[in-house]
Amino acid sequence: MRRTAVIGAGAAGMMAAIAASEDSRVTLFDKNEIMGRKLLQTGNGKCNFLNVSLSEDNYRGSLISEGIFKAVREKYPEDFILDLFSSFGLLYHIKNKGYYPRSDTSASVNDILINELRQRKVDFHPSTLVKNIEREGDHFILTLMHLKSNKKGRDEEKYDAVVIATGGMAAPKTGSTGDAYYFAKSFGLKVEEALPGLTRLLSPDIFFNETCVRSEVSLKLLIDNEYAGSSEGEMQVTDSGPSGICVFDLSGRAAKALRSGKKCVLSVDLLPEYSEEQVFKLLGRHSGPDNEKTLDIFTGIFSERLSLCIDNKMRKELFPDREHPLIPEIRDLRQIASFIKDLRFEIEGTGDFNSAQVTVGGILGESLTTDLSARDVPGLYFAGECLDIDGDCGGYNLYWAFSSGYAAGKAASQTDAEGSAFYDQDK
Ligand SMILES: Cc1cc2nc3c(=O)[nH]c(=O)nc-3n(C[C@H](O)[C@H](O)[C@H](O)COP(=O)(O)OP(=O)(O)OC[C@H]3O[C@@H](n4cnc5c(N)ncnc54)[C@H](O)[C@@H]3O)c2cc1C
Repeated sequence: MRRTAVIGAGAAGMMAAIAASEDSRVTLFDKNEIMGRKLLQTGNGKCNFLNVSLSEDNYRGSLISEGIFKAVREKYPEDFILDLFSSFGLLYHIKNKGYYPRSDTSASVNDILINELRQRKVDFHPSTLVKNIEREGDHFILTLMHLKSNKKGRDEEKYDAVVIATGGMAAPKTGSTGDAYYFAKSFGLKVEEALPGLTRLLSPDIFFNETCVRSEVSLKLLIDNEYAGSSEGEMQVTDSGPSGICVFDLSGRAAKALRSGKKCVLSVDLLPEYSEEQVFKLLGRHSGPDNEKTLDIFTGIFSERLSLCIDNKMRKELFPDREHPLIPEIRDLRQIASFIKDLRFEIEGTGDFNSAQVTVGGILGESLTTDLSARDVPGLYFAGECLDIDGDCGGYNLYWAFSSGYAAGKAASQTDAEGSAFYDQDK
């Protein structure tokens, strides 16, 4: 029987091993002692594994522009993944457009995958680091490091196909340390530099001198003064910059722009549900001769701590020559209304890989076929976050990990050593 090696027992690798086990004998390796170490941490321990309104617009990277995401999704759409989980015995429900296990614990998703792997007799090798992959004739040979005994050596098995699902570089403590890029380069594939995604933004702006302040906002990212994306939701003010899911969703684009030396600015609308004219009128309600301090105009509109942040910025940028305390006059209110609708923050960096939820960049689409095999290396497949595609927050990255894992595992177990599919494509 054909033999498939799957490297990495994360979301993508476990799914690849399940799919490959239908047509081949599968060995699954992970340097961790347990499977799904990152999966267990997802969605704050609840695992948001899919989204009801998924589209290509939720993703970026060369696997989108090369049509590879589209090809995988056409074969293994959202319903396929849901039916698969149901057939494994997972109950799930929808909250705020996200699919979660009914138990609201990520362990349920991990456990049903582990259960399925056991039933399918997938041979799991824990605490085993794959150091090297070589092609010898029609087969692949792995060099392994057994982390418990510190013994290194060539695996005795010869594999017809290998699926690399070793993740990107986000949250490296869970085991994803960029090994896929090394393997890919050793076979001549092209790799785009990895950057942190779904993380906070860093700003030197005077506004960010408070912590634990939250506000519903809408955001626009400007790169070299050009519109580069928008999002909305709850922004958290921290003393190093803006954070929160709506900020995370723009961080990958900011990281890429900053890497290429471009200027990044975040425009924040603090009252997106009101027009500028309405904000002007709201501010006017509290303005007048009885005002004793600047913040009176924000009474009932913003929390006191958020008002302080706005006040700091307003005094520096709008009224630098006025004495403190600044008591805005009626004629100032139009200016303040427009300020509140478009606060501009210079962005000078993003959080690092330790705080990132996903990796931006990775193995380029041009090096792959639509069934996720290396273009010039028959039998070598890739899946999950190691590829150059990253999604928004909300179940999009796990959908990619599961669907690409299934696609790569299935194709790997059904392709002969010369790279031709010997199975019925419509099966
Ligand atoms: C805190 C956090 C919360 C998240 N929440 C969500 C969420 O709710 N919804 C969502 O859609 N996405 C979420 N994500 C993103 C999502 O979890 C990842 O995109 C996805 O799990 C990636 O799966 P993967 O299998 O490609 O990689 P990983 O899960 O990183 O798995 C890679 C595996 O390969 C192993 N490995 C690496 N190198 C080797 C080697 N050389 N030899 C052997 N083994 C190796 C690692 O130990 C690891 O187990 C979250 C991420 C984080 C960090």
